[in-house]
Amino acid sequence: MSGRVRLFGVEIDSIRMTEAVERIVEWCKSPQSQCRYVVTPNVDHTVLLQHDASLRAAYGDAAMVLADGWPVVLASRLLGKRLPERAPGSDLAPALFEVAEQFEQPLRVFLLGAAAGVGERAAVNIERRWPHVQITGVYSPPLGFEHDDDENQRILELIRQAAPQVLMVGLGAPKQEKWVHAHRDEISADAALCIGATIDFLAGEKSRAPNWMQRSGLEWLHRMASEPRRLCRRYARDAWVFPQLVWREWRTSH
Ligand code: UDP
Repeated sequence: MSGRVRLFGVEIDSIRMTEAVERIVEWCKSPQSQCRYVVTPNVDHTVLLQHDASLRAAYGDAAMVLADGWPVVLASRLLGKRLPERAPGSDLAPALFEVAEQFEQPLRVFLLGAAAGVGERAAVNIERRWPHVQITGVYSPPLGFEHDDDENQRILELIRQAAPQVLMVGLGAPKQEKWVHAHRDEISADAALCIGATIDFLAGEKSRAPNWMQRSGLEWLHRMASEPRRLCRRYARDAWVFPQLVWREWRTSH
């Protein structure tokens, strides 16, 4: 089994996307009582983690931690703890759907998150493009749902009834990681993937950066241009704090 590297206080799996997908398939074949979940740290999560103990706890109990952003991979190389490649949540979902084509039975998936109506549009697109994926449930929780016990129980019951193998959780960070962590004993799915805006991408609601931008590490620029009001301040803070984290890590390891 591939190892993990410790960076910025997080244990990150040193694996490629294909191996990550294989692992999730294995989880579906050998379910456990507790739902295993995947988180995908990018620069922003790494910065948030420094001052958020419950996000750190959620990361600590994740069954798989995949480096989402190229800066995290680049930093791992600068620090001599080489990660093989980035494995973003937005690529993980389609990569899993691709391998589902080889299964005897359709892969059962629940989409949790995104604005009202978006999950339904994503479901249509997914089932059209990957006929071996069956969307057994879709739900867009209302604002502030995470503080409402009744609503949380309702969501867990919806998931139970839909009996998915894989729960896609697109509630944004750090909400999605904390929600999955808090309810991991009650989520009836073999795997939960914390995947940010992926449901929007699959619905065609938001567009991902062109391939050349993804390959050259400029996906963040595309996202910032598409949501400048929300993301400008965040990226400015991250651009200030992340290099300091890299420097601190370098000093402690040299
Ligand atoms: N979202 C949601 N419920 C919430 C907050 C966010 O469903 O209470 C969804 C939102 O509609 C979008 C996704 O979470 O689909 C946000 O993903 P993104 O990766 O942009 O969030 P980030 O982690 O970057 O904040």
